[in-house]
Amino acid sequence: MTIPGLFQHTPLLISSILTYAAKAHGRRKVVSRLVDEPVFRYTYADWANRTAQAVHALERLGVKSGDRVTSMAWNTHRHLELFYGVPGMGAVLHTANPRLSDEQIVYTVNHAESRVLLFDRTFIPLIERLKPQFTTVTTYVLMAAQDEPGYLNYETLLAAESPAIDWPQIDEYAGAFLCYTSGTTGDPKGVLYNHRGVVLHAMAGGMNSAFGFDAFDVVMPCSSLYHANAWGLPFSAPLCGAAMILPCEKMDGASLHELIDGEGVTFTGGVPTIWTMYLNWLDQNGKKPKDLKTIVIGGSAVPFAMAQAFKDRFGINVRQLWGMTETAPIGVVSTPTPELAALGEQAMNEAIWSRQGRIQFGIELEITDDDGNPLPHDGETSGALKVRGPWVISRYYRKDADCTDADGWFDTGDIATLDENGFMRITDRAKDVIKSGGEWISSIDLENIAVGCPGVKIAAVVGVPHPKWEERPILVIEQHEGVVVSKDEVLHYLASRIVKWWTPDDVVFAPVPLTATGKIDKKVLRVAYQHHLTK
Ligand code: ADP
Repeated sequence: MTIPGLFQHTPLLISSILTYAAKAHGRRKVVSRLVDEPVFRYTYADWANRTAQAVHALERLGVKSGDRVTSMAWNTHRHLELFYGVPGMGAVLHTANPRLSDEQIVYTVNHAESRVLLFDRTFIPLIERLKPQFTTVTTYVLMAAQDEPGYLNYETLLAAESPAIDWPQIDEYAGAFLCYTSGTTGDPKGVLYNHRGVVLHAMAGGMNSAFGFDAFDVVMPCSSLYHANAWGLPFSAPLCGAAMILPCEKMDGASLHELIDGEGVTFTGGVPTIWTMYLNWLDQNGKKPKDLKTIVIGGSAVPFAMAQAFKDRFGINVRQLWGMTETAPIGVVSTPTPELAALGEQAMNEAIWSRQGRIQFGIELEITDDDGNPLPHDGETSGALKVRGPWVISRYYRKDADCTDADGWFDTGDIATLDENGFMRITDRAKDVIKSGGEWISSIDLENIAVGCPGVKIAAVVGVPHPKWEERPILVIEQHEGVVVSKDEVLHYLASRIVKWWTPDDVVFAPVPLTATGKIDKKVLRVAYQHHLTK
């Protein structure tokens, strides 16, 4: 029999990160690019004031605790205000992903049953097109300095409101964000984050085992705010007193570099495609980032060659992150440990770059065989990756049953190994594995090696039907602009780096399709090349 502890029952609330940052780091800057306005700058203190004004404005529009509000917006200060204001008032922010198909966007907004939709100017045509199909939205608010007939204006609404607020002390288990996974098959699925999970995730993200922020950091999230909350960076940064730079949607090399050097960015993060472009741009323009120390890369496997290039040429540490919308998203982050450091710097870096990361406090990991039996953590045996923890999904939004097993484990759909140091390595997504003559070929490993071949921008490997071996890998390559790579060069590059039977049966040069969250769309590739080896 336990006895009750005698500490206070202060709930872990998202609004508490904002009030803390405004008090303890009130003068720290927030800099935001905007769609068609000059760069905007203010401080955490100003941000807290405007967020309070946004809450009052939403209240005046009739938004109540528990209501859903949709944002369709880039990485800007206005979106950041909604990130805190909407959950802070007890409502739920549905961060719509504008890169989904029209049909999927309509599905998510209607499924969320949002009453208010706030959007950036970029999305006026989209809103006009889809408005008749949004069944629950009654109020549209344009987030721009300049008015537009037919829409309420965010700035006008805020100007009428007071910056004073008493943040409500809501239940820490209350819903805060509604993020939909794109789902390559079927309808998108809603993941409803709660306050407690977001706050604990923000604390875990700030620790040295993950991002390791302090008040001297200048953090620029380049993963979208609408994709798994930009990996929690908009929470971990203010919680640690780090400044925040918001790049809007402008992710080309020149635009990124202007902010990175102009604002003294020390830490940034995003999917691999962004950093491939940035690295290429740095090379082409002979530039070197001034203050950038760390880039966290995730969403897809980090090409080893990219991590090595950032380190060798610019002294920048690449940290890999694995996660998913269902895990808010941090699952593992690849950071050094004394055991790895003892191997020497290069060996340590190689170990870090070739693994998705190590377990973080809060997230438990397990790998199992097809019958659900745990497999050894020997770094070799691979199995279905399961996760559990306070920022892991228990049930999809508006579903009747939990999506975890009886012990609370959520099956990620990834295939992975775990080792004795707590490092996890993804070998494939369950639906992408290639089985050739009864043996597994890791498409992720093959891609990772192929993308190191000079001139290759994106490498995608899919298994396609083969008359003799059931399935064989083919490699689809998108080259860097203005570069010509031959099939022989690619095969020659691979020859010394892979076992012979992994050699792709063909190398095709073609544009590689990406999903709405910037991952290689293997479903499209599998369909496109299904007869490639049988015709
Ligand atoms: P979507 O499928 O909508 O893009 P998520 O962003 O939730 O949604 O995708 C999560 C998946 O992305 C993971 O299950 C995993 O397959 C893949 N992933 C994420 N990070 C990595 C990584 N560092 N290496 C390999 N795969 C990754």
